[in-house]
Amino acid sequence: MTIDAVIPGLAIQLKAERLDKSNQIGERDIAQLAARESLEQLRWIHGREGTSLSTPLPLPLAGNTVYALALAEGGALLVDAGPDLEGTWGEAVALLATRGWEPRDVRAVVVTHYHLDHAGLAARWAAMGARVYAGALDVPSLAGGRAWYEARTLLRLAALARHGAPRALLEAQVAQAQRSGYGWAPCPEPSLEAVRDGATFALAGGAELCVIAAPGHTPGNLVCHVAATRELYAGDTLLPDTIPTPGLHFPVLDADAPQRSPRWPSLPPYLHSVGRLRALVEAGAVRRLLPGHGAPVEGVARLVARFEQHHARRGALVRALLAPGGEQSAYELAQRLFPRLAAQHPVEARAALQLAQAMTEVIGHLDVLQGAGVLTRTDRRGVARYTLVRKAPA
Ligand SMILES: [Zn+2]
Repeated sequence: MTIDAVIPGLAIQLKAERLDKSNQIGERDIAQLAARESLEQLRWIHGREGTSLSTPLPLPLAGNTVYALALAEGGALLVDAGPDLEGTWGEAVALLATRGWEPRDVRAVVVTHYHLDHAGLAARWAAMGARVYAGALDVPSLAGGRAWYEARTLLRLAALARHGAPRALLEAQVAQAQRSGYGWAPCPEPSLEAVRDGATFALAGGAELCVIAAPGHTPGNLVCHVAATRELYAGDTLLPDTIPTPGLHFPVLDADAPQRSPRWPSLPPYLHSVGRLRALVEAGAVRRLLPGHGAPVEGVARLVARFEQHHARRGALVRALLAPGGEQSAYELAQRLFPRLAAQHPVEARAALQLAQAMTEVIGHLDVLQGAGVLTRTDRRGVARYTLVRKAPA
């Protein structure tokens, strides 16, 4: 794949990029990933005594946390499959054994979203006989695995280029994509099932796990709620330590002209989903949040407020930056939002990556403003430029 292929005006060839095996993740990367697990989380896991039937067993796997719950029918349900990195399968098996479960006792795996650190081991669990559940729009990603994701690499790069990203930023993205050593095998279709909003799983002890569709982080993203214990398994929708940036999603490829495949705007549905979860918290139905990364959170209302305030502030900033008039691209807006990053870029590859992330957030807020009907978009030499047409409603 060459950068020229994504510069607008040139033909885009969508070919699944083969991973260079020599670039696979090294021992040091794995150690760093493992170190990311917070001490608190480990204390929480090991400090538990007197677990009840509906107490989740957390499986900390290289920076992710998978949760195992006892099913009424016997065996276990997993919330998320876990990342496929060296050693994670063995760790998951050893941790399940502490509750007397073997891998084939895992009957159901509810994957919160298709990202490789959450879905990576889905095929392994399926091979042991588990049924794998995901939101309908994420099912094709799980069925295709890494090839599905890589078939969209050029679309993501082309979207950044169309929003004004310079070559150095695209090159940093390509270099990073090649570094990923996560395994992500396709999950066999017969083991896969689309799970709907409101679907329930009967847990041991009489509790029920209810699936809540929460599109945004991915198109088919979901969270799980156990009303009896007032626990919310949030995946990456709400995290204790980071606010995830909206990604660039292309759930459906246009078969005739892949380069024309529509982007799925993710921030508007994400904000709607967080609003739905806030309502659940305000109704007193959530005592504790169990995230896909990091330690459990007790003050869930505060966490939700922090996420909503973050996006309200960022949205207001993007609107304010557009206010003086004149057309601006998402890249220019990201540079103005993060002048320190912009100053480093393109010297620092890390800054380039962070700037690309900032761009996806700006694109998300542009999607929100466009949905509110306050933006006009003009394409100039292949770059989308935006102008504020009137004051957005407060
Ligand atoms: Zn994640």
